[in-house]
Amino acid sequence: MIDTSVKVALVSGASRGIGEAIALRLVREGFFVVGTATSNEGAQRIEKKLEKGLGVVLDVRSRESMENLFLTLKEKNISPAVLVNNAGITRDNLILRMSDEEWGDVLETNLNGVFRLTKGLVRGMTRARWGRIINIGSVVGRMGNSGQSNYSASKAALEGLTRSLAAELASRNITVNTVAPGFVISDMTNSLSEAQQDEINRRIPLGRVGNPDEVAGCVSFLAGEDASYITGQTISVNGGLSFI
Ligand code: NAP
Repeated sequence: MIDTSVKVALVSGASRGIGEAIALRLVREGFFVVGTATSNEGAQRIEKKLEKGLGVVLDVRSRESMENLFLTLKEKNISPAVLVNNAGITRDNLILRMSDEEWGDVLETNLNGVFRLTKGLVRGMTRARWGRIINIGSVVGRMGNSGQSNYSASKAALEGLTRSLAAELASRNITVNTVAPGFVISDMTNSLSEAQQDEINRRIPLGRVGNPDEVAGCVSFLAGEDASYITGQTISVNGGLSFI
């Protein structure tokens, strides 16, 4: 039975890494959390981990999957007040070798998926006259990174989307911000070689990569009342990694 007096947060890509840390943190902060994964097993794992939450299947690239999610939320009478657009992928390659699929997959997941999910959930926030949309960007959206033209284009676009939505939704008391992590320990960064990881640590003023909880802390702040006057911003969580 879902307690309707508790605010609901939906976190896309909550099955592992940063999304999982955000989901767990928001539960600790008192939210009922709907966490998404691309598979049934992932959704079940999320539900087991969250004390107050629901695991659901969502592929942000698929309109059908998105419609199923909206239907599930409607059936359960759940209207998220907080949306964390966290699901994201990389498909790295140099531009001369990059296929249309690698380009398209990343833009479809990291940008078009955010558009669809946000569009589907914003009506409920508008009705409630309260909402928080938090997009997970990346330092690479501003810094750029060789071999990641698709990924950095998607993350830079998220920042523009954030600023436009912040202007559009402010009158409804909905804030929209981007949290831009630097390098964070997760499946996404574990695939880097030791030499690449050493080089990254050397470039970070704090001398280490971040952990998912450090990103979750920032998201949790933006989701709460203390952040009520912050909108249209990108907050970097990157150990001081500067932009070249
Ligand atoms: P991760 O460990 O690879 O996890 C990715 C999450 O996204 C998983 O829950 C995955 O679900 C989900 N996902 C993947 N494709 C999806 C799709 N088509 N539809 C719905 N969900 C999908 O990634 P992470 O490192 O935690 O990154 C999370 C976010 O932070 C991403 O937006 C990423 O770009 C950003 N970020 C990460 C870093 C970093 O250093 N790790 C740095 C900057 C920004 P399944 O488990 O079902 O596959």
